[in-house]
Amino acid sequence: MDIHEYQAKELLSNFGIAVPPGALAYSPEQAAYRARELGGDTWVVKAQVHAGGRGKVGGVKVCKSDQEIQDACENMFGRKLVTHQTGPEGKGIYRVYVESGVQIDREIYLGFVLDRTSQRVMIVASGEGGMEIEDISENEPDSIVRAIVEPAVGLQEFQAREIAFALGLDPALNAQMVRTLQGCYRAFTELDATMVEINPLVVTGDSRILALDAKMTFDDNALFRHPQISELRDKSQEDPRESRAADRGLSYVGLEGNIGCIVNGAGLAMATMDTIKLAGGEPANFLDIGGGATPERVAKAFRLVMSDNNVQAVLVNIFAGINRCDWVAEGVVSALKEVQVDVPVIVRLAGTNVDEGQKILAKSGLPIIRANTLMEAAERAVGAWQQDLTQDTRMRAVK
Ligand code: ADP
Ligand code: MG
Repeated sequence: MDIHEYQAKELLSNFGIAVPPGALAYSPEQAAYRARELGGDTWVVKAQVHAGGRGKVGGVKVCKSDQEIQDACENMFGRKLVTHQTGPEGKGIYRVYVESGVQIDREIYLGFVLDRTSQRVMIVASGEGGMEIEDISENEPDSIVRAIVEPAVGLQEFQAREIAFALGLDPALNAQMVRTLQGCYRAFTELDATMVEINPLVVTGDSRILALDAKMTFDDNALFRHPQISELRDKSQEDPRESRAADRGLSYVGLEGNIGCIVNGAGLAMATMDTIKLAGGEPANFLDIGGGATPERVAKAFRLVMSDNNVQAVLVNIFAGINRCDWVAEGVVSALKEVQVDVPVIVRLAGTNVDEGQKILAKSGLPIIRANTLMEAAERAVGAWQQDLTQDTRMRAVK
């Protein structure tokens, strides 16, 4: 789960990370009022969306007056901000954060991620802050400093100082840098985050280290331990298809293609998407319905896949190991009687009781296109929408 910048800043400040004073606003007038409360003569109005790269596309504006703040807000509220991280449809702006303007001497990149190779938390830092980490690793790979934290002892002071030294920071800033790094590490582990990114972490004109931006992602599987973080969820920032899936306990990722996928097992779902691409098509989604694949789950899955208007064919790919193909086939048949599916449906079953499963599909009287192998299923799915099938091979609501 992702959260907003202002929320991440509040959480991090509880762990000793220094941030500029700021306040949240839901309207242009409120933003101007908040700025007056903050005082000073320079403010930064920042669109709160779950994506970085806002600065480049007008989502971060430096303002010097009431009027400038209101104008900046008028251009943000209700709009969709499209950055390189949002996808082409963008993310809606419903809140802005008004922050005191800071005089920046130096920008640093700081990230905490899970390194799967070492199975440890890895700190990634660079003196080339402000740029996205992808650009830094492409343009300035030598500027990147990495450190792996030993979980038994946590982030040690000497390690934090080594990072400060490698970034070429003034030694007078060491204590602040150690506090920042250790605070982030503690926030990362204690709150079950999977990512903490401060870009930029800045050195100000008056020699303070401040987090000017903050991003945190949390492990969904650990959210039950942190009710105060679960409450920060903002559905307006999520793909509505994915929110619906999460609410139903299905593992779904929406994609741009038009072949809907219903698969049991994440690995098989990945292989199915690959095979669709190999056959010349584009998957509309990743969907793992899990091991059970009961009729109820299959029906939920069909409803979810069909709620995406781009879907022009549905490929069901089930491997029954512990499960049984005849049960799955019954599930597919009852789901198709219950859910309106007006696009071709291709079913490939393999594993336990596959023959019984095929018979149930054949006897159902439904125009299900059957396939024996994954490649065949993918080719049929791609063929089904490419050939613009005639009415009688399309599924009709049988409700
Ligand atoms: P994003 O990463 O989404 O573009 P940031 O919060 O990193 O958004 O802001 C973009 C840039 O705007 C920063 O790199 C920094 O140079 C500037 N900036 C952000 N907040 C402030 C602030 N409070 N004072 C001065 N400059 C800021
Ligand atoms: Mg940033």
